[in-house]
Amino acid sequence: MARRSSTNPNGLVLFDSHCHLTDSQFADDLPTVLKRSRQAGVQALMTVGLSVPDSRESVALTSGRDGVYCAVGVHPHEADRFRPFDVQSLKNLCIEPQVKAVGEVGLDYFRGYSTRANQETAFRAQIEMARMLDLPLIIHIREAASRARQILEEHGYYRGVLHCFSGDRRLADWAVDKGFFISFAGSLTYDNALPEVARAIPRDRLMVETDSPYQVPAPERSHTKRCEPALIRHTVAFLARALGRPEPELALATFENACRCFRIARDGG
Ligand SMILES: [Zn+2]
Ligand SMILES: [Zn+2]
Repeated sequence: MARRSSTNPNGLVLFDSHCHLTDSQFADDLPTVLKRSRQAGVQALMTVGLSVPDSRESVALTSGRDGVYCAVGVHPHEADRFRPFDVQSLKNLCIEPQVKAVGEVGLDYFRGYSTRANQETAFRAQIEMARMLDLPLIIHIREAASRARQILEEHGYYRGVLHCFSGDRRLADWAVDKGFFISFAGSLTYDNALPEVARAIPRDRLMVETDSPYQVPAPERSHTKRCEPALIRHTVAFLARALGRPEPELALATFENACRCFRIARDGG
């Protein structure tokens, strides 16, 4: 357990498994944001790429920072710009030791910023890239559960995490059965259906994330529009209450699960 302090009264050990530190909303005060997250008990975090340039930026930003890891990938929103040679650019980035996953990848039929055909092409290419590099996937699925399941089953690659989970019990059960982890973001604190889904997930598959700067958890929504990794404590507190577990125990379980998912040694290696 971490040391108790005024900024981390329960001595929580936390892993924010998904955030976007390259977002322009952090351009002015990233060092302060990271300091606040450490003070809140966030000992590790994963910043996730949205495109090839953003992945490149994520790798540069995380270089040499203790406990700060990154994933590289092309988000379904960016899939219209995805080109086959992007896989090589992403692969080249994976040489860096802080790159622990391929993401974020997947399907988003809710926004539909890219065509479904292009989303599928980018998703499939990056599943195969992850397999080749033996890396876990960070998967974004929005209103596309059955197609995403079908694609993952066709490729037969089931390593990684379904991030910012917003699906139903059926998708959660399927994902757990296949071996995936499931991560909850701030939406857990205001989506009435999600706590019930969370209760059905085995404790050793649960992860938490902020998806910063998006998804401000409920208790902070009236104070700020920008989420940041330190606010993960609200999602953990909510999850602990929903599951009837002590907060420090649940925080540590989600920390250890993220370490297992991303193959990060507990000492940060
Ligand atoms: Zn996402
Ligand atoms: Zn994201």
